[in-house]
Amino acid sequence: MLATIMYGPGDVRYEQVPDPKIGKPTDAIIKLSATCICGSDLWPYRGLQPQDGPAHMGHEYCGVVVEVGSAVKSVKPGQFVVGSFCLSDNTCPHCRFGFQSSCVQRAFMTGAQAPYARVPLADGTLVATNETPDPDMIPHMLAASDVLGTGWYAAVAAQVREGGTAVVVGDGAVGLMGVLAASQLGAERIITMSRHAPRQQLAREFGATDIVAERGKDGVARIMDMTDGVGAESVLECVGMDESMQQAIGVCRPGGTIGYVGVPHGMTFDGQKLFFSQRRMLGGPAPVRRFLPDLMDRVLKGKIQPGKVFDLVLPIAEVAEGYKAMDERRAIKTLLRLDE
Ligand SMILES: [Zn+2]
Repeated sequence: MLATIMYGPGDVRYEQVPDPKIGKPTDAIIKLSATCICGSDLWPYRGLQPQDGPAHMGHEYCGVVVEVGSAVKSVKPGQFVVGSFCLSDNTCPHCRFGFQSSCVQRAFMTGAQAPYARVPLADGTLVATNETPDPDMIPHMLAASDVLGTGWYAAVAAQVREGGTAVVVGDGAVGLMGVLAASQLGAERIITMSRHAPRQQLAREFGATDIVAERGKDGVARIMDMTDGVGAESVLECVGMDESMQQAIGVCRPGGTIGYVGVPHGMTFDGQKLFFSQRRMLGGPAPVRRFLPDLMDRVLKGKIQPGKVFDLVLPIAEVAEGYKAMDERRAIKTLLRLDE
């Protein structure tokens, strides 16, 4: 089959690779219904993350099971499934505590920007639907695999609550999903930090009540002003840079909580400053598997339409252009079509 391979910064090719095969009895092979490009795929694409040789890209996926290993019990060929970008057994102590992204068998999905993919730990990782969803549901189901699950985790980790105030730092796809999550979890006021008109509009569609275009110290001052000098009790950090984390800490009230899901790059903390500021923090790779059944149910019931975050749709053969468009910020997030 053909699949997406990243050779190095700026060099993505769609080329011939061996078909995926069952390697372990706990594997499944799925035929993807659609796949997409993640903001985190841009780190190696921009040369900001070292890479050991060519990489088989893609970790967001949904599709139909075509084959399972002999030990797989919970999914079977013909079922439509969504899985997390974090592979987990869903049985170890960390999984049972709701932190499947720290599973003792944790591994990260790769190779999903392709027509077929191997999913290790299929029983613990995949969630099947009762019926195959309508084609117009596919983008929304695909979003649950990572971007929505990650935004959701940011909101849960930030302890967003009914009637509360949340600030979302970052207007990328994950930040926009954080807005959607905060809205679903009942936040009354959702302040989004965004400078880009199309993203501001999408943020409003997902439930943002206020937009702050200023960044850095000015952005913090503006939000403090909007909250009568108090700050927000829930802050979602969805970027991963030092500046964005300083903004997140700056707008969080004492006793408040920061949920941080942007993979940190060049971030440092001043221990004493953190000590005296009295903020709570929880972050890391999202335990999407914890939220998947609920998120898939919300999608299928038409309560949420997270797939609106895909503002560029390309046939997978044009995957290189999909990366370029996101790198140049012409697209928020690219969905890759897998037509016959
Ligand atoms: Zn586990």
